[in-house]
Amino acid sequence: MLQPAASYDELTDHFRWEIPERYNIAADVCDRWAIPEPERPAILEVALDGTVATITHGALRARSLALAAGLSARGVAPEDRVAVLLPQSAHVVVAHLAAYRLGAVALPLAGLFGADALRYRLADSGARAIVTDAAGLAKLAPLREALPDLTLVVSVDGPADGAEALSEIEAEGQKTKKFETCVTGPDDPALMIYTSGTTGLAKGALHGHRVLLGHMPGFLMMHDFPGPTDGPVWTPSDWAWAGGLLNVVMPSLRLGMAVVARPFARFEPEAAFRLMADLWVSHAFLPPTALRMLRAVAAPRERFDLSGLRNIASAGEALGPETFAWARDALRLTIGEAYGQTECNLVLAACRRAGVARPGSTGRPVPGHRVAVLRADGSEAGVDEPGEIAVKAPDPVLFLGYWNQPEATAKKFRDGWWLTGDTARRDADGYVHFVGREDDLITSAAYRIGPTEIEDCLLRHPAVALAAAVGVPDSLRTEIVKAFVVPREGFTPSDDLAADILAFAKRHLSAHEVPRSLDFRETLPMTTTGKIIRRALRDGTA
Ligand code: ATP
Ligand code: MG
Repeated sequence: MLQPAASYDELTDHFRWEIPERYNIAADVCDRWAIPEPERPAILEVALDGTVATITHGALRARSLALAAGLSARGVAPEDRVAVLLPQSAHVVVAHLAAYRLGAVALPLAGLFGADALRYRLADSGARAIVTDAAGLAKLAPLREALPDLTLVVSVDGPADGAEALSEIEAEGQKTKKFETCVTGPDDPALMIYTSGTTGLAKGALHGHRVLLGHMPGFLMMHDFPGPTDGPVWTPSDWAWAGGLLNVVMPSLRLGMAVVARPFARFEPEAAFRLMADLWVSHAFLPPTALRMLRAVAAPRERFDLSGLRNIASAGEALGPETFAWARDALRLTIGEAYGQTECNLVLAACRRAGVARPGSTGRPVPGHRVAVLRADGSEAGVDEPGEIAVKAPDPVLFLGYWNQPEATAKKFRDGWWLTGDTARRDADGYVHFVGREDDLITSAAYRIGPTEIEDCLLRHPAVALAAAVGVPDSLRTEIVKAFVVPREGFTPSDDLAADILAFAKRHLSAHEVPRSLDFRETLPMTTTGKIIRRALRDGTA
């Protein structure tokens, strides 16, 4: 495991992977604590009225073994997909652990998914079972006929039409002979997460058990080396995403830190600060969009007791120097930004303790991962030259492949490098600066412009709460930059305000980056993971 160090060189010098021949995520996150210390808190469930229930590692172990026995008795076999459609709660972890113990594949699904998204993922994956709640059952009912593979529906809210109660299955499982956790290898399938679908249809990224070990160095860096005496840890991200599940829940549990479960229907900045203060949250993972919303709350340190908060990590979109500077000022924290993808997560990271933190950079390669910025011909780009972020295979954090799409998987590798489709440049000190997703790059008068820098500049204007920059067709320059802005509270959209923001951009950006036009919007189109869908702004579908 990665050891804390005061410099990047020291971090990388001593690191090497330790991937055992037999490895099961459930044993590694739960049994490692539940056997010696069954009373160690694992999940702090916060009810809507603010009351907190503590679920221990011992309870997670007993419940997940019982559920695994119950699922097995109902015919769920190794490699079957077990969907989990639940808001943040201990049930989510119990369902995941049960699937891992069975050698089955956990398939997390986000609560925000509508009928089409659910049908697509359940049908595409051929899910055999699903663990869900009353809200999930209601969404599922009209889809059941179209999902012949889905033979077992388990409800955490008691028995229902066509669904068995989780509590009954667990109770029965506890009575039967003790379930033995399946012996798995690190490369055996454990988990399938669909990508955000920012660029098109979401793809099922299948991961082996090793994926958790692959996350640990990046997790330790971005969260600034937490340990068993820290916690609780909190994220508003749905635990169905790599961001919630693998940047927070599983590694925290593995390190012995308790995780806060608090379902939010939508992100509320005031409630987020209150929660972190009331529960004395020590480590939080907040995607850039959430941080930008927190930025609207004035004087947070004066209003909320955030003295327990040691570190905030962030990933999923570019953080940008503006939001980084805000956190240093308003929260007195250095955000640990990381970069990754559902397929290959946490390969670049910043880390305060190791002195790896530079505004506007997503950090440096995490020890254990070989990350390069490549030209189209496969050679390495020079200093500050934009190229594609690539990760050398094999790598424990790299997925096994897209579900049922071997060709789509193969297309993303070249000479043993996993090609991310993201453009970045590396500065003279080896820090990586994100430029944009390949398909979000703007081609203007022979320049390739990334939206990241433009959006960060717009955010520095006092009237701007959120911003997006896209390319729109132009007969002369191929494309010109167009900005979309959500104004801050207290600012009313007007031509004068637009002109003022564009003039501000002109003072700060290179001439070719300056937006030629600006539209105000009440909201920006976002994926359920809180990423701006620039494609929709470009197409005019949003
Ligand atoms: P899809 O692949 O379905 O189009 P997606 O790529 O948005 O969706 P995810 O795997 O959730 O799905 O997101 C990974 C992407 O998020 C990365 O490829 C990158 O574009 C972006 N990203 C992640 N971290 C950062 C970061 N620190 N800075 C900038 N972009 C980031
Ligand atoms: Mg992607």
